Amino acid sequence: MIYVDLDGVTASWKKSLLRVVGVDYEDEETRSYLKKNNGKIDGMADVGLMWKEIKKEGTKFWAELDLFPWSKELWDKMNKKSNNVYFLTTPSEEPDSCAGKHEWIKKHFDTRKFIIAPEKQVCANPNAILIDDFPENIEAFEKAGGHGFLWPNDLAIEDGDERIEDVFKELIKKIDSIK
Ligand SMILES: [Mg+2]
Repeated sequence: MIYVDLDGVTASWKKSLLRVVGVDYEDEETRSYLKKNNGKIDGMADVGLMWKEIKKEGTKFWAELDLFPWSKELWDKMNKKSNNVYFLTTPSEEPDSCAGKHEWIKKHFDTRKFIIAPEKQVCANPNAILIDDFPENIEAFEKAGGHGFLWPNDLAIEDGDERIEDVFKELIKKIDSIK
């Protein structure tokens, strides 16, 4: 089983959340802050306002998150590795996020192979690997008996601090070591 995260791995969540709070995603200082703080905007923008604005946009906010340039390649590569590849994503407090995420997956990947779960580790087992950008999620998944691959910060890949070819290479190596 290979589980692929949406936000930060295949869906450009940071870009859209900065848009709703009116912060420039391209600004260098903003980007270095987000890289250092693992995507958390606490301290640079109003988190309460962010959720309020996201709620206002409803399903549209989630359905219209941008793809990363590598998202399709990651999905294709994983499907070559396994017959059991699922998107695994956490919903927000709002039911809209579930519908929007479903819409996003359908639009870009035309698949129903997805799981929306607030705690990703419920899917952990010795044959499962989670690809996720949050160290806390990886830790919990491993603790529950699964394997984890910490996806680098998306901004670091976009800015060339990390090479996507190297990320894929490391990921494949990790998957091969499990079998
Ligand atoms: Mg994520």
